[in-house]
Amino acid sequence: MAREIRTRFAPSPTGDLHVGNIRTALFDWAYARHTGGKLIFRIEDTDRERVTDEYIARAIETLKWLGLEWDEGPEVGGEFGPYLQSQRLDIYTKWAKTFLENGDAYNCYCSTEELEARREAQRASNQAPGYDGKCRSLTPEEVSKFLAEGRKPVIRMRMPDGETRFTDLIRGEVVFEHKYVPDFVLMRADGSPLYTLAVAVDDVLMKVTHILRGEDLLSSTPRQIRVYQAMGLATDELPAFAHLPFVMGTDNTKLSKRNGEVSIAWYREEGFLPEAICNYLALLGWSPGDDKENITMKELVELFTIERVNSSPARFDMKKLEAINGDKIRALTIDEFLTRALPFLLKEQVVKGEESEIEVVRKALPIIQERIARMKEVVPMLRFLFVNEVTFDDESAAKVNEADSKKVISTAIEALSGLSLWSHGEIESALRKALIEGLGLKPRNAFGPVRIAVTGSHISPPLFESMELLGKERSMARLESAVR
Ligand code: GLU
Ligand code: ZN
Repeated sequence: MAREIRTRFAPSPTGDLHVGNIRTALFDWAYARHTGGKLIFRIEDTDRERVTDEYIARAIETLKWLGLEWDEGPEVGGEFGPYLQSQRLDIYTKWAKTFLENGDAYNCYCSTEELEARREAQRASNQAPGYDGKCRSLTPEEVSKFLAEGRKPVIRMRMPDGETRFTDLIRGEVVFEHKYVPDFVLMRADGSPLYTLAVAVDDVLMKVTHILRGEDLLSSTPRQIRVYQAMGLATDELPAFAHLPFVMGTDNTKLSKRNGEVSIAWYREEGFLPEAICNYLALLGWSPGDDKENITMKELVELFTIERVNSSPARFDMKKLEAINGDKIRALTIDEFLTRALPFLLKEQVVKGEESEIEVVRKALPIIQERIARMKEVVPMLRFLFVNEVTFDDESAAKVNEADSKKVISTAIEALSGLSLWSHGEIESALRKALIEGLGLKPRNAFGPVRIAVTGSHISPPLFESMELLGKERSMARLESAVR
């Protein structure tokens, strides 16, 4: 029987999860779901100065919000826990000791200054910099001398001569010559484990079969494989690696704070829907096989294979993400749209959450659904419905105060004051008759000033519907106050 596929998402949350992390999580999730396997969520928090409880809590919440549910990990538990590395320190210590006993690792007593001086010499003579193996075979006398000096050793893994060769599922055959992979530290002098030890021990103990992760970790793979082997894994038992292509910013360098927005928290605050973020990130390095760009999570799961992941870097394109987000917003039912919009309106205090306000919002949403690309835009779009008086920005104030605008607005007041039925259709025909036929204006010049007077802005939901929603009394009062 083929072994069950087990993938893992193993972030070190030293801040909010970023685009790269989530793309990795999404691919691990999609692969596990596609194959009927398991997704393990492991928090790599051995550096407790940089990985805080708060960041961990936010990472967990972010994955939940995105709908990337895991089968083993924080909150859900599992057979191979705990899933926080900070709770597994004794396991890493035990394995480091085993490696020492088996001769796979050794104690290294070199001080930071000594290592630095030797590295300097390597550089000066054009040798590859890296640990030179000095402590590989110390005599008992040398060891006693170091201990007498009060030195505390680190534990170093011995890299045998030769090379590490493996088939990356995305990049094909990869070879690392060991002369460029020096003996590396597994455990610091204070007994704390390094990343390479913890990550590899956990992959083995958690029975991970497939590692999909960012390309930046490719160079650590030979060290990781070395640890797997020291733990007794045979070549055909090693997990398979799939290193995902870099995500680049607009300037074609790796996406970072400098050339784009990276924090998923920012996308959430802007009003990108989780299904839009997942849909878009899925396209960063993967494609469903045709030109299709709008896919559901269900389709992603059905179609996701590693063969369709590309090895060349993917460019992050905000315009495309916005287009997808707009599509997802338009696909919402009005009830869903309302549920998603309300938090934005509450946060910006556009509404207090009263029943009557929510009814107004519900009526207004259909007229803006076609017009927004980020949920946050509901705030400026709908605010005019809930204020007593509109406030103008400088540009709108100047426009509404022009003599021509005053004339348009006065004419509109006359035309509308006699309307008995206050519907958008009636409003529209009255205004067209008075302003376009009567004054001979182009629609833009006719409706622009009315729009600003009523909503406070030249960007608003469709004008006639907006006036209907606002009601006759309030619409007329705003028009009148604009010409006073
Ligand atoms: N914890 C590592 C990181 O966040 C990733 C480990 C891995 O995926 O192998 O960079
Ligand atoms: Zn040493």
